[in-house]
Parts: sequence; structure tokens; C-alpha cells
Amino acid sequence: MSACPGSWPAVPPRASRRGDSLLDRVLAGVAPGESPLTHVAALPAQEAREVDWPGWAHPSAVSALGRAGLRRPWSHQAEAAELAHGGRHVVLATGTASGKSLGYQLPVLTALLEDPKATALYLAPTKALGADQLRFVTGLGLDGVRAAPFDGDTGLAERDWARTHARWVFSNPDMLHRTLLPRHARWGHFLRRLRYVVLDECHAYRGVFGSHVALLLRRLRRLCARYGSAPTFVLASATVSRPEESASRLTGVDVTAVTEDGSPRGARTVALWEPPLLDELRGENGAPVRRSAGAEAGRMLADLVVEGARTLAFVRSRRGAELTAQRAARALAEIDPSLAERVSAYRAGFLPEERRALEAALDSGELLGVASTNALELGIDVIGLDAVLVAGFPGTRASFWQQGGRAGRAGREALVVLVARDDPLDTYLVHHPDALLGRPVEGCVLDPTNPYVLAPQLACAAAESPVTEAEVASESALFGGERARAVLDSLVADGVLRRRPAGWFWPRPSERPAAEVDIRGSGAGQVVVVEADTGRMLGTVDGGTAPATLHPGAVYLHRGVSFVVDELNLTDGLALVHAEEPDWTTSARSVVDVAVVDAPPVEAPPAGGVTVRLGDVTVTSQVVSYLRRRPSGEVIETVPLDLPAQTLHTRAVWYTIEESLLADAGLEPARVPGALHAAEHAAIGLLPLFAVCDRWDIGGMSTALHPDTGMPTVFVHDGHPGGAGFAERGYHDVVPWLTATRDAIAGCECPAGCPSCVQSPKCGNGNTPLDKAGAVIVLDIVLAAL
Ligand SMILES: [Zn+2]
Ligand SMILES: [Zn+2]
Repeated sequence: MSACPGSWPAVPPRASRRGDSLLDRVLAGVAPGESPLTHVAALPAQEAREVDWPGWAHPSAVSALGRAGLRRPWSHQAEAAELAHGGRHVVLATGTASGKSLGYQLPVLTALLEDPKATALYLAPTKALGADQLRFVTGLGLDGVRAAPFDGDTGLAERDWARTHARWVFSNPDMLHRTLLPRHARWGHFLRRLRYVVLDECHAYRGVFGSHVALLLRRLRRLCARYGSAPTFVLASATVSRPEESASRLTGVDVTAVTEDGSPRGARTVALWEPPLLDELRGENGAPVRRSAGAEAGRMLADLVVEGARTLAFVRSRRGAELTAQRAARALAEIDPSLAERVSAYRAGFLPEERRALEAALDSGELLGVASTNALELGIDVIGLDAVLVAGFPGTRASFWQQGGRAGRAGREALVVLVARDDPLDTYLVHHPDALLGRPVEGCVLDPTNPYVLAPQLACAAAESPVTEAEVASESALFGGERARAVLDSLVADGVLRRRPAGWFWPRPSERPAAEVDIRGSGAGQVVVVEADTGRMLGTVDGGTAPATLHPGAVYLHRGVSFVVDELNLTDGLALVHAEEPDWTTSARSVVDVAVVDAPPVEAPPAGGVTVRLGDVTVTSQVVSYLRRRPSGEVIETVPLDLPAQTLHTRAVWYTIEESLLADAGLEPARVPGALHAAEHAAIGLLPLFAVCDRWDIGGMSTALHPDTGMPTVFVHDGHPGGAGFAERGYHDVVPWLTATRDAIAGCECPAGCPSCVQSPKCGNGNTPLDKAGAVIVLDIVLAAL
């Protein structure tokens, strides 16, 4: 166990705290010889920092909010409201359940109450969130505010009413893109008086979707300018690194960040936990396998229920959640059969009344332990628990705290445990608690200059109002400079747009290009997932990732429910599946080749024989097989697949090393491919620590001699056409990123490489060759040179 970081204030001695005594109970169940606890942090209780309502706040708004239970604002709410009221664009980036909404409600309500003509627009990434916020505002019962929904579920008559009468419209980017902006003439009076644009949960706008939303907001801003308004943007975000930077990139305006959280919090004990490597199980190439996070969580759940602690365990799949609940119930049955009945699994798809019943049972203590998929993150009101177990890092700090934040209530201490699973990022986090508990390192990335996003967005913009010279005059212009002009030129060459002296025009006024543009896809086409027996459409998957996630035999999870793919037809964009919960998971493996298309010249001479570059590449990848594995990590078999190769034009970050450096460090030529390959795998695993993304958003390739660089090279590339900003973030954060990669490899106690460090579940080369020690040498050379 490592010491707590010095920055945590002094806490009462152990065992006088509830969180600590629960942790002691969990530790008492650890088998002799195992030492899974890697770190304990005591997060102190925080007193609320309440301030007075600002003087400008409208008295009716203040009294309505007071009736809704908000008696005085917390400091961060007031600070954000103050900035917004003063016309400054602001992003409020504070923790889960810190009441970020008040930060925009106060200035928006005040504006609507003071100026009977003012309007406001609220945008949420999900319908459920927008509906919750609308319900709250409507419930305030303020005369004249006239809040109304404008989303896919809104009927035509209600849409008309919203357009003509509503003053605060609750919508989403999809509606803005498809309806509101293309028909802006009908919304002219609304846009003319638009005072505020609220972007809730704006960290959801990342990657390709985020890049589309960024351009969508620029389309909104130019139309507002045409109608004579310049709305103030108010954004709410999870805590990410440099929120003002991501918010400014998203909106295209300068945004000020408010990050000092003044909301109260109960004390929590946070434990980081790494299940042991097991002797009896072997994974691929004989690598050791850890006890699964779900199995470990099941045992802990039982121990906590015995203590009477109301506990929620988050497990990644529904099947996993059921196994965890079963394991806990079985353990409890041996101690006290009545306790076994107080543990349950929660599945997505519960009816609202079943959810309420579950909430009530957990609240009353009738139910003590629940294992759930993260579907429970949405739409259920469970907070103030005694303990939360997170089995496997959920990918982002925001999700982790969304889950862990359900533990603890005022005056009552609680326990949060992160149980690592077989993954280099999990390994890194349990050994580097500061990355999880200290300042955030991950940022939201998006790239509004991606030509694959710019092209359809500029066509939409031109159809709404001709794109002018000034809008693409320089890098700081609305749509950017050179890249946007190049895209416009190619749209003219393709006959999509027409160039006239006054700008770029959409030549077919009766058609609206927005209907054809999918802002949530990558532009690689969509594959529709259909349940074969019922004909029910489950969803769509990006064409680029379909071979990896929807190949025949793949276990496909949809909202936590498991399906198995029978057929994938890429030509028709169709995948047929059937519901099935097999006892294994699948992971596709692909072989990748990368060709450098264009890389800007290196400014400085290569530092000590190492260069790091960012540039355009062509990635050719082919899914060649998939692996079936038991939940324990044990490999059942590798199944070959026959799928076509795919080509992707995207962005990559890569480094090259002079061969002599490798030789000088004692790495003989035969070891170089395995060393680079292992370093590549771990680097892909760790990039999500710096750029909010998941492993399907990025890929990589390594070789001891690359034809384009003429040297040993490791590439990490974006997984979407044109790139989404991930490789770029890796390039800018190359030193911390590769340092974390090195530490994750060195920190794993396996002898020669395992899934927790250098093995990758999607490696098309069967995870050979891999040289764990060699990877550390490679990364040391690179880091020394940088
Ligand atoms: Zn390992
Ligand atoms: Zn590989």
C-alpha cells in the first residue's frame, strides 16, 4: 500500500470512519498471500460554501427556486451565473451532483423575466437529460417563461407552438442540425432575440460527434449574427483537464471556466484494488490472467451486505452483473439465507415502475446489494449509498465519479472501490492514484477542421446562407482558413456548391443537405443492426468499426443486453443478430498497415535520434479472426474470419528511433519487433487517459523498418476518417502519455507480458511477438531523447 498523497488534509484515525471500517471488512476476506489493495485515499467531507443570491437575480426566479428547495446558491453556481449575466461565455466544470444547472437557470430565467421578448436555447446530448431539465423549469411555474420541448418526440402541433410561442426551447444538436437551422427563416423571431445558448453535459461532444457539433454551433452563431443577436454560451461539463480550452474549441468563442466546487460532500474512503494473477488459469500465449474484476466485486458485495452496508456494484455487461450478483448471493446463502435474498442484479430495460420499486427497496434497505451495468447511470435516482464498487475503470473519470458519486450522503461516510480489470489503463490507475484522484489529465478532444466533417457541414451552412469569403479568411475565421477553403474548392469541383463573387452558394434551394448528414457517424456509412426473428432495429454502428464489432459470431451488447451476430453484409449495411447470452465474450483481431501520406516538416532537428511526428496517413486494416474468452479471461479459441480489407484516411502520431540507439541500449535486432509491438499496444491502452476516447476510436501499428520512415517506427492513429483529434492530443501530450505507458508496463508484476500491460485484445498478430522488458527499454530511449 502506498501512502496517501500529501495534498489530502488530515483525517480522523482509521476505523473511526464508516468508510474505513467497511474497507477493513472487505480486506478481512482477502485470501492469505494476496495483497490486492494498492492505495487508500481519504477524501474529506466538504462543507457547503453558500453565498447570497446576486443582486441582479429576478426576485420571482429567486422565490420560485427557493420553493423548489434551492435556498441559497453555492459559490460555483453564483460565480458562473455572474459571468453569464455579464455577457461572458462560461463553462461550469464541477463534480457530479454539484448542481451545475443553477449556473445557467439563474441568468436565463432572469433574462426571460426581465425582457418579455428574450429567448433561450437549451441543448442536451441525450433526450432523457433534456426532459429532466425541462420538467424542473416547467415545475417552477414562472409566468411568461414558456419553456417547451423541441425534439424527435415532439408532435407537429407542439413543434409549431414551440416555434411561435416558446421562449425557452429545450432541444438537442440533432434537431438543431436537421430542422431548426435549415428552416431558420421560420425561426427568425426566436433567433433575433436569442440571449443564451445552454450546452449541458458538453463533455459528451467529443470525437467525430463533437467535431460536428462544433461546426453546428458555428452555423448557429452566423445565423444569429444575421438576425442581429449574439447569444452568450453557458456550458456545463464534467471535470476534465483545461475545460476552457475544450469549451472554446467547441463553441468557437472565448470561454471562461469555473472549476472551484462549493457543494457539500460527505467523507469518502476510496480504495484502489488489483486482483491477483492466478496460477491455475492461462491466457493467450501462456500469459497469466488476473481474477476477474466481476468475481472480485461479487465477493466484496457479499462481505459488505453482511455488514448491512447498502452497496451498488457497477459491472460492464449485463451478464457480468448477473454473475456478480449470483456470486454474492451464493456466498451469503452459506452465512445467512435471508441475506442472499437481499441481493439482486439490475438490468437495463426495466419499466419505470420497476425502477422506482428498486430505488425504494434500496432506499429502505430492504435490498442491500445490487449489481448493475452502467445503464443505472441513467434514469435512476440512487444516491447516498454506503459503498460503491466499480468493477473495471469505466473509461473516463467523469463516468467513474458518476458511479462513485452515488456513495455517501451528508454526515455519513462511505466507501468507493475501483477494482482493476485486465487492461493497461486500469493497471496504471491503481498504481498511480493521482491520475484518478488528483487533477484531471483527460481532455475532451474534437477537430472542427476535419475535412470529412467540414465538407458536409459547409454544404449545410451554404444551404442556410451563402458562405462568405470572410468566414474562411484565416485560421481564426468562423470556419477556419486554409483547410476550409480547400474543402469548399472540392465541393465546387464536385458540383455540390457554386462559387460566385459573393461567396459559396448551395445551388438547389428545394433540397436540404442536412437530412443526408449524420452528425453522430463518421461518414463511413452506417450498418443497421436488426434482430432477425422480430425484425426489430436495435441501432446503427459506424461502417468503419462494423467489421470489428459486428462480424459473424460477435457478442454484441446493446444497452447491456447481449446478442450474437449471425450475418454481416457490408454492401447493404446490415447486420442480423439474435438475442443470446453465451458464457464468453468475443474480441475481433485485425492486421493493420499504415502509409504516411503527408507530414509537416520537422521544425527542430531530431532530438537524439528520436523524432515524433503528427500527420496524415492511410490505414489499411482487415479483421482476420476473433477470440472467444470466458469471463475469467481464459481463452477458448481463435476463430478465423473472411472479411474485406478497409482503407481509412486519417491522422496519426508516430515516433521513430535510430537503430543504433536500440543496439546501444542492449536491444539486439531480434528483439526489436517485439519491443516496439509491446510499446505500441500499451500506448494505445493509455491514450484514453489524455483524450476522452475508447479503444475503438484509435489503433496502431509498429515495425522494425517502415518503408516511409526508413526506421523502427510506432504509429498510433485515429480510427475515424479525417481524424477526431485523438492522435493530435497524443502528439501534444507525448511525454506524459509515453511516461504513463512506460509506467503501466513496468508496474505490472507479470513476468513477460499479460493483458494488464502489453497484450491487446484486438491484436491481429495473436499478440506475438511481444517483448515486455524490451518495450520499457524503447520507451526509456524515447523519453530520454524528448
Ligand atoms: Zn502484465
Ligand atoms: Zn498487435
